[in-house]
This record gives sequence, structure tokens and C-alpha cells, in this order.
Amino acid sequence: MDKTLYLVAHPLTEEYGTGDLPRMHVNLLSDTVTKPSTAMLEAILMAEVGDDVFGKDPTANALEQYAARLFGMDAAVFCPSGTMTNQIAIQMHCDDLTELICDETSHVYQYETGGYAYNARAAVNLIKGNNGKINADQISDAIKPNRGWLPKTALVVIENTSNKGGGSYYRLEEIYPIRQLCDERGIGLHLDGARLFNALVETKEKPAQWGALFDSISICLSKGLGAPVGSLLLGKASFISQARRYRKVMGGGMRQSGFMAAAGLFALKNNIARLSEDHHRAKKIGAALSEKSFIKTINPVMTNIIIFELDESYDGDRFVEVLLQHDIAASAMGKYLIRMVTHLDLDDAMIDYTINVIQRLRPTDLK
Ligand SMILES: *Cc1c(COP(=O)(O)O)cnc(C)c1O
Repeated sequence: MDKTLYLVAHPLTEEYGTGDLPRMHVNLLSDTVTKPSTAMLEAILMAEVGDDVFGKDPTANALEQYAARLFGMDAAVFCPSGTMTNQIAIQMHCDDLTELICDETSHVYQYETGGYAYNARAAVNLIKGNNGKINADQISDAIKPNRGWLPKTALVVIENTSNKGGGSYYRLEEIYPIRQLCDERGIGLHLDGARLFNALVETKEKPAQWGALFDSISICLSKGLGAPVGSLLLGKASFISQARRYRKVMGGGMRQSGFMAAAGLFALKNNIARLSEDHHRAKKIGAALSEKSFIKTINPVMTNIIIFELDESYDGDRFVEVLLQHDIAASAMGKYLIRMVTHLDLDDAMIDYTINVIQRLRPTDLK
């Protein structure tokens, strides 16, 4: 293989020998900034492909079967994005004149361009959860009684880990009563598991235990798992065969998708266990931040996401700008709210450098 390809594809590790700190680019914007590793690129190059719209792409089929087996579910469908897998699920669960229940910070509400309304014509019933997590009592209170003037509650969406909740995660015990409630009330239960594996490496729970509790599950291959693109929607066989129609009508039927599926398969087979390293690094950065006087609160760092709030006399955009002057990229999520995310294209030197910069930041630098 041509090695220059990889050099071009890995600008994150460039070093600059200026100042007493070895300057380096550290991209903490998201876990979606990763590039395929050499081994993943090789898997892509070697992929056998066909036409997945005809169900004839062997690698896409292998990915879907591998994931379905991993979760102990019937089937899966490979889609271009987690937005699409969530949106397909919402459309399938929500008939006319229905609503879905979710936490007010959830991705399906905040970051999918209002797709629940546009695609599914569903209403939304928001719960004020705890760091993005909602519980059975809250859901029970939120479920609408059966009245002719109210939308019918059709779906509950759980997000694990919670992105805006700072990477917080659920344990199975918290899901059991929610499953029971949904069964009693005839309501669907969907898991937005964009970062589910980040939760599972912490709890040591098995994908199949989660597969047993949900009507549909969406997982992302392009977040911490390090594939360049792709998500999977999992569910019962009849659900997934209908989901393929929704994927097609949304323009998500891909032809030689095996090249992308090969990256996803590689990610599922190789990049799950190492997520704990991302968590360890995020905790180290979180600990350094918690020492700073200009930071008011920091969400407990549970997985690979660090969310913190600056004291009101400082400004989020200014903080991000100062970090950028040191070649560290973070994102402002609100006027005082900052997010940093760790991922597999970081190394220990970059984390040490980031911590060093944080330690040296003085309140006056931020004015
Ligand atoms: C990233 C993400 C998604 C899906 O996003 P895409 O960018 O469309 O793949 C869904 N839910 C959560 C919680 C996410 O973080």
C-alpha cells in the first residue's frame, strides 16, 4: 500500500518545536474527528462489495449479521448516519397523532433538525432528566391518558450514553422498570445508542442484555469506534425489513456500501475494548479542569465526554479561542458551557500537553 496516503490522513500528530511545551494539535471537538487507522484502511481496501440496494453487498450483509448476533437481535440495517437510524425508528414507532417521550437534552430532539415533526409528524413530550437520563417514574407521569384531544404516547427514546448529559450512562437495572412500563402501556422503546459501547465498557454489561430490552437500537460506528461513516439500526426481522423501505425513501440506500461496512466491521471487532482508554484520558483532563478557579461546575466525567461551565465572568467563545491559540480544539455548547471529547486519534503526549496548557491558564488569559 502507498504509505503517503496515511501521512496525509494523519495531520493530528504533527509536532511544532516552539516554546517550552512541545506544541501539538489536539482535537477535542468530538469523537467524530478520527481517521481510519492503517489496519482499517486495509480492511476497506480488501472489502468485497456488491450492490446493497439489491441486498447483494456481502460486506454490508456481514456487518448487519455480526451486529445483530452481538445484540442477540434478529436483524440490522446499515445506514449512513445515526440521525437516519433514529429517524427511521421514530417514523416506524410513531403513527399519526402520536408523540414520543425523551429527555429535553436528547439528540433526537435537539440535533436532528426537528425530524420527529418533519419526518414522522409526531409531537414530542420532553422530560427534564438528570444529566440526560430519565427514569420510569418520570416517564409514567409523562405518558398521556387516552383522551380524544391528546396525542397518543407511542414511543420512549433513551439515549445512552447521553451526549449533552456529559457522557452519563444507564445501568440495566434502570432500564428494566422502563421496559415493564412500556409493555404495560403498549409503548415502543427505542435506544439511541450512538455511544452505547462507551457505557458498556464501564458497566461490563453485554450488548445482548441491552438487545433484549429494546424494540429498536441505533448504534454509531463513526463516533468512538473510529469508522469514518455509518450507523446500524437493529430490531426484529419484520421491523428491519420495513426499515429498509424507510432507508430507501430517505435516500439512504447505498450501493457498494461494503467499503464503509468493512470499516464498521473492523471497528466493532477491534475498537470497543480500547474505549476505556478514552475514558481514562477524559477523567485526567477533567481532574485538571476541576482545579481551575474560572470553572464553576464540571459534569462528572463518566466516559469520553467532558462538559463544564465557566464562571459567568468568563466567556465560552473566548475560552475556546485561547485554547485554539495553543492548538487545542474544544467546542462551546452554550455561552458558558464547553465540551471536550476524547477519542482514538489521541495519544498520551497530547493529553499531557492539554493538561499542561490547562494548568498554566490564568484567569487573566481569558479576559
Ligand atoms: C452523533 C449522535 C447521533 C447521530 O448522529 P449522526 O451525526 O447523524 O451520525 C445520534 N445520537 C447521539 C446521542 C449522537 O451523539
